[in-house]
Amino acid sequence: MLEACERFFTQGADVLNLEDKVREILITPKRIVKVEIVTEADDGQLLHHLGFRVQHANSRGPFKGGLRYHPTMDEDHASALANLMTWKTAIVNVPFGGAKGGVNCDPHQLSKPELDRITRVFVDQIKEIIGPQLDIPAPDVNTNADVMAWIMDQYSTYYGFSPGVVTGKPVHLFGSLGRDEATGRGVMYSLREALRDQGRQIADVTVALQGFGNVGSHAARLIAEQGGTIVAVSDHTGGVANAEGLEVEALSDWVKAHGGVKDFPGGDDLDGAELIAWPADVLIPAALEEAITAENAGAVRASLIVEGANGPVTPDADRILQDRGVMIVPDILANAGGVTVSYFEWAQNIQRFQWELDRIVAELEKTMTRAYASVREVAKEKRTDLRTAAFVLGIRRVAKAALSRRTIREQISFD
Ligand code: NAD
Repeated sequence: MLEACERFFTQGADVLNLEDKVREILITPKRIVKVEIVTEADDGQLLHHLGFRVQHANSRGPFKGGLRYHPTMDEDHASALANLMTWKTAIVNVPFGGAKGGVNCDPHQLSKPELDRITRVFVDQIKEIIGPQLDIPAPDVNTNADVMAWIMDQYSTYYGFSPGVVTGKPVHLFGSLGRDEATGRGVMYSLREALRDQGRQIADVTVALQGFGNVGSHAARLIAEQGGTIVAVSDHTGGVANAEGLEVEALSDWVKAHGGVKDFPGGDDLDGAELIAWPADVLIPAALEEAITAENAGAVRASLIVEGANGPVTPDADRILQDRGVMIVPDILANAGGVTVSYFEWAQNIQRFQWELDRIVAELEKTMTRAYASVREVAKEKRTDLRTAAFVLGIRRVAKAALSRRTIREQISFD
């Protein structure tokens, strides 16, 4: 996955005519940490897990990025996702850099007390390199407000009350109103803006969605609220389709009760693999990376892809889709609503003040709309697709900050 991110980075750097030395400075992570997490299972056996935190860049502010608990979590994944965070925070212009991490584990096989213990030992191991002005983790795949509360609690036992050390906390524990749905809401705004460019609106389109977790379920609900028709949804358990539109609230209730979308009675079963090729105007991959590859890109029937997940389209698939005229709103723009409201949460924690939901929603809408317009502007100016333009915008902002903070021997200029 890291290779894919670096290929997309290079596309943006080439457009900027960025010198090799600057590329090297920007692409190299500041710190890579790997720790052993040894805990006791509920039955008293010892459990070993590996934890990772990659801090990619902090020229524009403290490192910022999620924690993922998943069997595929490793240094390559953390590095790739940290790299993406650096450009994402710059695109929405929040005062953070990029980081990512997590624990290599299968949370579905662990009890809540086991996850709590693993999280606390992970914090013990990385506490010196995180902090409200240093590096601020957030939820990602298989982590949620509970995990963030444990991190805040454990970190605070060392450094005193520190709500600003993580975002995505429960609202009753210094979390922000609107954070839970923020990424999905940002995906909905990105979709709205992209459709506006094509002279369409959400109420005109059918949508197929892969992934019905935090990002996918909120995006589905908010798109349906705008009149969009969700015709197919898949997750790790299977899939469900209904050409007339799935009842999103009922589907959410089903998932809460049954752990996945499989066998939802409000539609017909579909095989998870069929989702990418489902007949819909819009495809939203909101599960894991590399969902659309060179093998299945030719089968995509949607004319617009909005990337809710990080890295769902490989570079080879991206080329195939671009050649076919499929418009793609890239991850570093489309799913930036989460880190935007994480910034609002952090700002509230620093100020010891709570914003109203209306204010969060209005500021998020403004930020996402502005970011989309800035990326589209660069795409026009440089005659590129939206992904390359998003990288150009992110790299340009990070490079300017990095080069103002350190002097390097050559005179540096870039387009
Ligand atoms: P989540 O754990 O809440 O949900 C993940 C979803 O993906 C679940 O519905 C799961 O069943 C599904 N899934 C897993 N494997 C699958 C498979 N093989 N096929 C189909 N579905 C599968 O995670 P999330 O927070 O919604 O994150 C989803 C994606 O969005 C990730 O790429 C994450 O990095 C990205 N993202 C999340 C946030 C955030 O705020 N949570 C912000 C930005 C980007």
